[in-house]
Formats: sequence, structure tokens, C-alpha cells
Amino acid sequence: MQLVQDYFGNMMIMLALLFIYYQHYKDENLTHTSSTKRKVISGFFAGITGSILMVFGIEVGSNTIIDMRHVPFLLVTLYGGYLPGGVALIIIQLVRFSFGVTVSSYASLILFISLYIGYLLFRKWKIETRIKVFFMLLYSNVMFTIITSLLLKIDPLNKINLLFWITSFVCGMMAIYTSEYLRRINHLFKQYQLSSTIDPLTGLNNVRSFDEAMNSAIKESNTKRKPLSLLIIDIDYFKQVNDTYGHAAGDAVLQQFGVTLRQTVGTEDTVSRNGGEEFTILLKNTDHQDALRIAEHVRTSIEAQPFKATQMDTIYITASVGVATYPDTVSIGDQLYSKADQALYTAKRKGRNRVCSTTELDELVTQ
Ligand code: GH3
Ligand code: MG
Ligand code: MG
Repeated sequence: MQLVQDYFGNMMIMLALLFIYYQHYKDENLTHTSSTKRKVISGFFAGITGSILMVFGIEVGSNTIIDMRHVPFLLVTLYGGYLPGGVALIIIQLVRFSFGVTVSSYASLILFISLYIGYLLFRKWKIETRIKVFFMLLYSNVMFTIITSLLLKIDPLNKINLLFWITSFVCGMMAIYTSEYLRRINHLFKQYQLSSTIDPLTGLNNVRSFDEAMNSAIKESNTKRKPLSLLIIDIDYFKQVNDTYGHAAGDAVLQQFGVTLRQTVGTEDTVSRNGGEEFTILLKNTDHQDALRIAEHVRTSIEAQPFKATQMDTIYITASVGVATYPDTVSIGDQLYSKADQALYTAKRKGRNRVCSTTELDELVTQ
């Protein structure tokens, strides 16, 4: 009965730590392309988990303890490769040796080095993850049996060995099922997060993330006392593109338009598709003169750019741009958008394919 309790406890500890780990790294799963820092931390976490499992091991005799410390080691090597696996190996072995330098601890060292090499080789195998893990566990069990029988003289038919095989398979398969499930959840979470902030057609920010970027930029502009400029860009007579070449062609043009905008300004600048054929560029630390210059550069770039509407048709389009700057031309940050929109309207009224500033609004009213 004690055995079942210990066995259950060991599994629960591992699952609890697995959940904590995935909860912490919600938005990105560990892979061989993860950053070095992430790999080292993951290896460290697996090493600590393995050590905790060792401390809460299952007692099967007066001096012998079975534990599942190879399971987190297996997972982290499988997902992250040699670096996190190596870190986990070092930590688990350091803790093992701190318990005492005995034949058992040397046996553990040899076992873990052989597991490490084996896991790295299994990793390359292009096969469904769960099946791969099954074979990795089988390999772990075989190595455990060989090393314990050679070095610790444990009879392969002994109850200890049998228990290790059963616990290793049950615990290992449970860990991989849980892990794969949590990784899928994390992946979906990341995708939903992206789709709620990114416009799918152009890959630019959508209106929701534009709003967030704009609000935080206004705050930053206030605290740093730096100007903030906004460009609203609307394609001229875009309806005609749809009417002439079809909606799909319109979409293709919008997509290329997004690429052009992104390339025309710096990576620091927030480029968004605010809806339909209306885009915005948020320029931090940019005064009105510079913003007008950038807007003119955007306008001429679009004018000069050939757009592929269909395989056969290359077309040229133009756009109108409204520009406003806080606090240069707009005294209240929250009015930046509406003022730039009014400037855009002025540009359309004045004949399109031009840049208009908020300073030109008044002259129109008096006309
Ligand atoms: P203006 O110069 O006054 O801006 O004229 P316009 O034709 O560009 O403006 P209007 O607002 O009348 O029409 C915008 C058109 O943009 C209408 C709509 O068919 C098209 N549009 C909006 N969103 C999309 C989209 O996602 N894909 C495509 N293909 N067309 C879109
Ligand atoms: Mg338009
Ligand atoms: Mg429009």
C-alpha cells in the first residue's frame, strides 16, 4: 500500500511541476530554435524537477529508491536538444552525488550519460512523438536493467527492476500526453493572441492593437515630452480596383500596399490596417515637419510602385494622407486621430494623391 502511495505521489509531483512550467511559459514552447537562455532555464527546471523526484523517490527496499528523474530529463532533451538536456543532466547528477559518493551514484552517472546520448539520437527520428517517447522509455528501462545488474548486481528479474519498468512506462507516457496537450494549448493560445492583434490579410497591426499602441504612445509622449505624429493613409478610388479586377485582386493590392508601407518607414514605427483600405502610421519622437516629409515619402513611394492586381494586370494607385502631430498641431492627445482624419478628408476634397496637414483645415473652413 505504501508503495502505491509513493508511486502516486511521485507522479503527481511531476505533473504539478509540468503544469507550473507550462503555465509560466505560456506563449512559447521549447524547441531547438528557442533562445539559449530559455534552453538553459528549461534544463535547470528539468534538473530541479528530477532532483525533487529523487528526494520523494519510491522506497522498494531498505537502501533502494526508484524514482522518475529520467522523465523530465527525457522531455527536456526531446524538445530542446543537447543544451537543456546537458544542464538537466549536470544538476541531477550533482544532487545525486551530494547524497553520497557511492557505487550507486556512479551507476546513476553512467546510466544518465548513456540516456543522454540515446535521447539525442532518438530525437532525430522522424516519427510520431508519442511513439518516439515510448521507444525512449523502453531504451531507458533496458539501460536501467543493464547498468543496475552489472554495477549494483540487481537481478533483472528482481521486483525492483519490474517496478521500475512499470512506473517508468506509466509515468513517462502520462508525462508526454500531458506535455503534448499543454504544448498544443499554448500554441493555440499564441495563435489566438496573434489573430486578435494582427490583420490577417496584411500581417500589420489591426485596429485593436493600433488603439493600444496609440494610447501608450500618447502617454509616453506626455512623460518624455516628445512629439507624436500620426499619418492616416487612404487609397484613392479603391472601389474602382474592386469593380474592374474583382475583390480578390483588391485583396492582393491591399496586401502589397501593406508591404510597401512597412518598407517605407522604420521598424520602430507602428503600421496598422485600421479597416478596409485605410491604414495608419504612428511615428514616435517625430515633429510635424518630419512627419510631413515622411508622409510625402510614403505618398510618392505608393505612386511609383507597380501593384500586381492579377497575374496579367499591373496597376498604379495613389493614396491621400492626413497628418497630425501632438502637441505641435493638436493640443489634446486624444484628438490626434480625429484631427488626422479631418486632414485626410481635406486631402480628398482637394483632389486626392496628396498630403494634408491639420494646419490646412482652417483655410478650408474659411473658403
Ligand atoms: P476615395 O478616393 O474617396 O477613398 O474612394 P474609394 O473608392 O477608395 O473609397 P470608398 O470608401 O468609396 O470605397 C472603399 C472601397 O474599399 C469599398 C470596398 O469595396 C473596398 N474595400 C474595403 N475593404 C476591402 C477589403 O478588405 N478587400 C477589398 N478587395 N476591398 C475592400
Ligand atoms: Mg479610399
Ligand atoms: Mg476609405
